[in-house]
Amino acid sequence: MTGTAPLRLALDGAALIANWRWLAAQSGRAACGAAIKADGYGLGARPVLDRLADAGCRDFFVTTWDEVRALGALPDGLSLSVLHGVRDADMAEATTARARPTLNTVEQVKRWKQAGGPTCDVMVDTGMNRLGIALQDVADGLLDGLNIDTLMSHLASADEDVPQNAQQRAAFAALAGRTGARRMSLANSAGICLGPDYHFDLTRPGLALYGGVPRGEAAGHIAPVAHPQAQVIQRRRIKAGDSVGYNATFTAKRAMELAILNIGYADGYLRGFSNRGSAGGGRFPVIGRVSMDLIAIAVDADPAIAEGDWIALDYALPEASAQSGLAQYELLTTLGHRFDRVWM
Ligand SMILES: *Cc1c(COP(=O)(O)O)cnc(C)c1O
Repeated sequence: MTGTAPLRLALDGAALIANWRWLAAQSGRAACGAAIKADGYGLGARPVLDRLADAGCRDFFVTTWDEVRALGALPDGLSLSVLHGVRDADMAEATTARARPTLNTVEQVKRWKQAGGPTCDVMVDTGMNRLGIALQDVADGLLDGLNIDTLMSHLASADEDVPQNAQQRAAFAALAGRTGARRMSLANSAGICLGPDYHFDLTRPGLALYGGVPRGEAAGHIAPVAHPQAQVIQRRRIKAGDSVGYNATFTAKRAMELAILNIGYADGYLRGFSNRGSAGGGRFPVIGRVSMDLIAIAVDADPAIAEGDWIALDYALPEASAQSGLAQYELLTTLGHRFDRVWM
């Protein structure tokens, strides 16, 4: 173990790779890429990229050119796409970098054409109304003259069974052969679970790589990757009637044994876990409110726990999401900077 912080994020490289392999198998004939934006959903973009590239992943997605730079030099043969495209300020970097912009707007397309930019990707909006050029703009020839590697669209509700999925799929499929793009890509993690009609040439999972379960079909196939662990600073005994933490939201009905752990909402263990979270595989419930840097857990179940011991927070994403009210995505991306990130 490296690092000296009183809290660490144990990262399971084998689980990361197994999750990607499952998603790649589900993707059928389509290639399976990896979204590593937001610093690899909080786990660390570069260590994620290295592990997935070793496993055979070739297509990576980040958000901004800052994220491209933060990755440093890339191994040969990888494709990196920048989902937010290009501003004027990005052009010098974008036209010479190893990464491609995903052009999202009419302005971005014009900018890229005017600069004679090399191969790019393009995002088309098929109904999410977030990023992407309009279908009508494609029909009007906006993309003519571009050298497009991947034509993309993004599903708004792939984690639900709603008609919007098939509507978006049909609108996207109708673009086949209309742009000269070498590949088409629609599905995120949840979209992969929707089946072969959604896979096209390339899939783009993020959440499920990191242990998120986007839909029921993935349950039992996706393993947790990020395991927060915190050190005990103090053990204390409280009496019946004693309260715990800010605003005394917990009052003991009986004498209890507590451990105070070195983790709090500043580390991304947010207040939704107050009186709801747990540690040690359900044995140690969180007691009272989550503080900025501390939580209390009840450790009656283990008389041996003492100062300096390491405790694993229960952080399986679907369950932790239900406990805290946070999205599985938020549970990953809010994990803070004070953890030692330790790959196993
Ligand atoms: C974030 C993102 C993905 C990955 O989505 P998940 O739901 O995390 O699998 C794929 N495509 C685009 C355009 C994205 O922004």
